[in-house]
Amino acid sequence: MRLNLFWQFGLVFLALLLAVLLAVDIYAERVLRRNYLREGFERLDALGRLAQARPPLLASQLSSQQPPQESLQENGPSDLSSWVKWMARSGARITVVTADGRVLADSAEDARKMENHANRPEIQQAFASGGGRAVRHSATLGRDLVYLALRHQPPSGGPVVLRLALPLKHIDDALAEFRRQLLAASLVILLAAGAISLLVSRAFSMRIERLKIFSQRVAKGDFRPLPVESTGDELSELTRALNETAAHLDWTIRSLTDERNRSSAILRSMVEGVAVISAEERILFSNQAFSQILGLDLPQCEGRRVVEVTRESDLLGVVKQVLAKRETVHSEVVMGTVRPRSFAVTAGPVVGPDPGKGRPDTTGAVLVLHDISELRRLERVRRDFVANVSHELRTPLTAIQGFAETLLGGAIDDQENRGRFLEIIRDHARRLARLTDDLLKLSEIEADRMELEFCPVGVAELIDDCAETTRLRVEERHHILQVDYPDGLPPVRGDRNRLAEVLLNLLDNAVQYTPPGGQVTVRARAVEGAVQITVSDNGIGIPQADQERIFERFYRVDVARSREVGGTGLGLSIAKHIVEAHGGQLWVESTVGQGSDFHFSIPTAR
Ligand code: ADP
Repeated sequence: MRLNLFWQFGLVFLALLLAVLLAVDIYAERVLRRNYLREGFERLDALGRLAQARPPLLASQLSSQQPPQESLQENGPSDLSSWVKWMARSGARITVVTADGRVLADSAEDARKMENHANRPEIQQAFASGGGRAVRHSATLGRDLVYLALRHQPPSGGPVVLRLALPLKHIDDALAEFRRQLLAASLVILLAAGAISLLVSRAFSMRIERLKIFSQRVAKGDFRPLPVESTGDELSELTRALNETAAHLDWTIRSLTDERNRSSAILRSMVEGVAVISAEERILFSNQAFSQILGLDLPQCEGRRVVEVTRESDLLGVVKQVLAKRETVHSEVVMGTVRPRSFAVTAGPVVGPDPGKGRPDTTGAVLVLHDISELRRLERVRRDFVANVSHELRTPLTAIQGFAETLLGGAIDDQENRGRFLEIIRDHARRLARLTDDLLKLSEIEADRMELEFCPVGVAELIDDCAETTRLRVEERHHILQVDYPDGLPPVRGDRNRLAEVLLNLLDNAVQYTPPGGQVTVRARAVEGAVQITVSDNGIGIPQADQERIFERFYRVDVARSREVGGTGLGLSIAKHIVEAHGGQLWVESTVGQGSDFHFSIPTAR
């Protein structure tokens, strides 16, 4: 059963009041009894003195053992029964008992019917020491009495005891009366105190109720302070303290929320995939980049086991390792089979206090995935580039060296062949020069050292000039070259020589990679904010897999064929850089065996 504060106070108060009443009752009874007994004995003493001063005449009873005949002495009753009656007028009960316990006379009962009184303690005491007292229940009268017994030695015969007794009845009456008054007073006190404590405890419990509602409000996130009462007691102090706690909580929650928002904004905007893993290998948190890397929706990730969201054994191994070893693990994992991507994985343990053991323990790990595919690609490109350059240079150099040595070895006198050998040396030297030219151009472009002189360039003139330059080679290979552009094309913003370089390269490739008697077309059209120029051929085409790579340095679909026609594998790479330096784009559409369309767009001058 739940008792509210009011009833708890009320019951304690009632118990206290009852305890006090009981103590008062016990104490009052003792004091009253003592007083009444003292008073009773004082009266009995006075009567005793009177009895001793006027003792009864006892000779006849003592000798004949017959009740005496009534006779009067000079100053009082002369025989025993008259004396007893005379004494009893004082209100006391008078009994005369012989040494053997026989009752000679009694003021309240017929002495002949009374039992032997030899065993009464006051009588035994009186015979032994001359006087005896007792407070006890009278078997004869059936009530409590105070007794005083005095030994009396009559002039003749044995001693007798004169016993005087007063009833205790009025002590009990007085006590009962006192109790009645005490009870009435207590009732009044109880009612008054009850009413007062009702008011006090109601006010008290209302204030506590207010505090309870306030703390419930705080728990729900409402931190508005409670008005502090001016009573200055402990409850108003408690209100003040709770207000301070609420304000502090408010501040803490606000700063934690700000902190969390900041952190999640940072984590959201990070390109690195970040995830927090629990000791049970569950994902507690992950940012968008992380779920994108694993190809999942963000809500799918959280709460799930790592093994459920990825099958990458390397990544799972890293998670297990960091949780087991409790030290940062750096690793590199490659994910995906169609388009493999490389990630630098850093997994750091999260160490926190273990509530059970009280010492730091691993509570999880933070996983950071950094996409280094581009870095790895660039490294590979650089490696390939060095290998390619060496390879490209070695071929002409070996040829030059070989033919030069042949000439020196005597072939110089060989009229028939020396001219051919020298031509070969010259061709390879030209090839070397072209190669170094292209490499220099490329390095200039890549180091952002290419100087472009921007000015409006008329597209029609550009196309016409380039077509004219290529015409000879077109004719050599029996191709048909077509030019197709509308009137009024807007001029583009660019460096004329560089743009011509791009177009010539594309035309050159179209001529080279189209079997004799093919068709080469140059078109131009205005698109939004730019002019798009397209060089089409119906030549050998480029396989889909190579289309993206032909813009890489030294990349050639058919190396032997490219070498044969004097290609360096750098032309498209340079062209793409030039177009992009103009703010445009260069791309290809091609089907093997049907031909290729190379498009590039250059922004217009306006
Ligand atoms: P190259 O000096 O070898 O021509 P490029 O960079 O100009 O170098 O071209 C790279 C490769 O792209 C060529 O080796 C060739 O395989 C392919 N290619 C370029 N243009 C065409 C085209 N019009 N038709 C077919 N293949 C082409």
